[in-house]
Amino acid sequence: MHVALFTLGGTIAMAGTDRSAADPVVNRLTGADLTAAVPGLAESGVRLHVQDVRAVPSADLTFARILDVVAAGSRAVAEGAAGVVVTQGTDTLEETAYLVDLVWPHPEPFVLTGAMRNPTLAGPDGPANLLAAVRVAVAEPARGLGALVVLGDEIHAARRVRKTHSSSTGAFASPDTGPLGRVVEERVRILTAPPRHTPLPTPSTAALAEARVALYPATFDDDGTLLAGLPGGHRGLVVAGFGVGHVPSALAPTLGALAERVPVVLTSRTGAGPVLRHTYGAIGSETDLQRRGLLDGGLLDPYKARVLLRLLLASGTDHAAIRAAFAEHG
Ligand code: ASP
Repeated sequence: MHVALFTLGGTIAMAGTDRSAADPVVNRLTGADLTAAVPGLAESGVRLHVQDVRAVPSADLTFARILDVVAAGSRAVAEGAAGVVVTQGTDTLEETAYLVDLVWPHPEPFVLTGAMRNPTLAGPDGPANLLAAVRVAVAEPARGLGALVVLGDEIHAARRVRKTHSSSTGAFASPDTGPLGRVVEERVRILTAPPRHTPLPTPSTAALAEARVALYPATFDDDGTLLAGLPGGHRGLVVAGFGVGHVPSALAPTLGALAERVPVVLTSRTGAGPVLRHTYGAIGSETDLQRRGLLDGGLLDPYKARVLLRLLLASGTDHAAIRAAFAEHG
């Protein structure tokens, strides 16, 4: 049994140039270095086919790079891999994992992991996370669940997981649902399975480059000048509204005008819970913004809504189909 392991850098693969704790760390460890540092991996009976794709901070990952890895993962499962594991930085993991989840068409698990504490520190979490990710990638109960994020022995649905802390090893959580399951000793336990969606098509790199989507957070006492000055060239906009999907009333007409030109998706900046549909009636509330043409982002957080909207736009999806996609995925 084998797993395809793709490495993309991040803290899990960082080390100081002189390997001392005082030295700022940079990406320098290969997949071979990572796997050699994992106690129990050799005894697990799972062979790893390692491909070092890129060693970058995850802030420098792109849609195109992730979709290349998805294509390579598809080839790997066609050639017999039981599953796929990707190691990367944790900063953008909640976005990249969701992108993978939207397009991954196979029953084989696609597992993403990383580390919060780099290998030069006492108690690095990378080796344990990598071992748990490999266990999930080969686990029968994890098949058919799409993309999964495994850190701290917790298994999260890519669709629901958030990075909720900047430095804690317990940074990853699924605030709306909790984890899907856990790795307990060497056993993978799935406690709840989310519904799967039909995979979306993978757009070309050129189409992705054209499909720019802006993200605009609602903030206290914003007079709307910044929103009005949003440069053209964006094909869509995600609004991270207050609470259940509200913005200052001064912004509502501008958002309505934008929604006549491009899809504008309303989400909540709170970090958990959905936007509402028919509760509040003030200017700038969710009912007002929907009347002005904004789309309902449902339970999707602003970052995941942006991933979905960009993917849909890059695939040439029309407005009605974008609305339907958010109704299905949100
Ligand atoms: N800055 C790092 C990255 O995302 C953080 C991490 O990996 O945890 O690449």
